[in-house]
Amino acid sequence: MRSRPRLRIAICGGGIGGLSLAVVLGKYCSDVEIDVYEVKPQFTEIGAGVSVWNRTWAIMQTLGLDEKLVKMAAQVPSKELSEKSDPGSEGFEFIQLVVPYSFVNLHRADVLKVLVEALPPPSMFHAHFNKRMVSYTAKSDSVLLHFADGTSGEADMLVGADGIKSATRATMYSALADKVQAGEDEKNKLRGFVNASWAGLYAYRALIPTEKLLAAVPGHQAATRMMFWCGKSKHVVSYPISQGRLVNIVPFVTAADAEGKPYDGPTVVDVSKQKLIDEYRGWEPELLQLLESADNVTKWAVSHVRDLPTYVDGLVTILGDAAHATTPHLGAGGGQAVEDAYILGKLLASPIATTSNLPSVLRIYDAVRRPYANHIVERSYTLGRLVEFIWAPDCIDVARARNGSKEELQIIGREIRKKWDIHWASVPDDDWKEAERMLRELSEVPGQVIARM
Ligand SMILES: Cc1cc2nc3c(=O)[nH]c(=O)nc-3n(C[C@H](O)[C@H](O)[C@H](O)COP(=O)(O)OP(=O)(O)OC[C@H]3O[C@@H](n4cnc5c(N)ncnc54)[C@H](O)[C@@H]3O)c2cc1C
Repeated sequence: MRSRPRLRIAICGGGIGGLSLAVVLGKYCSDVEIDVYEVKPQFTEIGAGVSVWNRTWAIMQTLGLDEKLVKMAAQVPSKELSEKSDPGSEGFEFIQLVVPYSFVNLHRADVLKVLVEALPPPSMFHAHFNKRMVSYTAKSDSVLLHFADGTSGEADMLVGADGIKSATRATMYSALADKVQAGEDEKNKLRGFVNASWAGLYAYRALIPTEKLLAAVPGHQAATRMMFWCGKSKHVVSYPISQGRLVNIVPFVTAADAEGKPYDGPTVVDVSKQKLIDEYRGWEPELLQLLESADNVTKWAVSHVRDLPTYVDGLVTILGDAAHATTPHLGAGGGQAVEDAYILGKLLASPIATTSNLPSVLRIYDAVRRPYANHIVERSYTLGRLVEFIWAPDCIDVARARNGSKEELQIIGREIRKKWDIHWASVPDDDWKEAERMLRELSEVPGQVIARM
């Protein structure tokens, strides 16, 4: 007879975050049981690129996934160009961001494929498809998951890796609001975290076959390097992926006075190429040539999850976009999901983690990851406003920069570089050391609940 696993872990959502957690658990232990519940009929990702920065890459190396990933990446110089390119500008290059450690640009489907291939063996891992979790019930020693098809699942704990519209976060924050001993204001504040909030931003997305671009415009820079075109309340990012066969483009548009306003429309809509080109009428010819090559353009309303006061409630926790969906300006959302998975996975893989101390173990994850990941959300939002000349620190005359003052743009360029510094200022193993220290403390003082706000 099979002995009971040390922990039965349910993961809601099989995206980058959920699958990374399963891979980390499979690498560091073999005595837990993992059930992933995914609403889609299989593990899939949208057709778009993702840049992987130094911190995330270090985890990929530790997990032994780097060699496979690097074969699928596009080789780009560790340098980005930012240009002021909107109408009235002369295409002035105001920053060259030289990255001390290179970044790796990938197709999302390739990342997911590599994760799927690294999943733990069937003795510890089960995938359940077409399962939409609608809510859960927390019991004293287990969690019941309720699915849209009327079925349920049970585990010792639940990890909500179910993305920006997380049913796990919605259930958690409704429950926290109901049980908190406080007035209506505090309860409403907690209920405010049930839904993500619109960042007042739209992102267009498209993949361009590099051959098509180069046939139309021989030698186009975007085929071989990462580019930023910046202007008033708009900017465009592009980078090659899939061994250079595709160019991923993400044109952004900030809606005027939209910050903090509710967004009622659909998250994603298909739009014509002409609509995209119209947004950038009068911008640099090089950018317009790139947009001309785009087909299958989608337009996304970008939301974020700001400043959650906790990622944990008892035996339930959240990771990735469910916990801290961010605007994509730092290119860090997917990386943050992987970092969550790394710290949480290593904590749960430790033999110290048992059914009797799970809430305390989860609070270590919260204490280590939440301050950093919440900070990334704010930093990314500020970066977006900086590159679109909407906001700048007091020492900068943002109106002059907007009007093309080279002097002011150089200073903005330095501020932008400072925002990006976070990608190479530290490594996730620094966080793991801290988590490990707290876990050791927990084993020495059983029953202690670690809290750090
Ligand atoms: C325009 C744009 C550009 C970006 N660029 C980058 C970049 O360059 N670098 C980067 O690191 N990040 C980037 N990101 C962010 C990145 O895409 C996300 O942070 C990342 O995908 C989050 O992973 P996740 O696993 O938390 O969530 P998701 O990828 O959303 O996965 C959630 C999974 O849960 C499933 N699910 C959802 N609800 C349920 C349910 N109720 N029951 C069961 N299953 C469910 C979904 O089907 C999905 O498979 C970008 C985002 C945007 C919008």
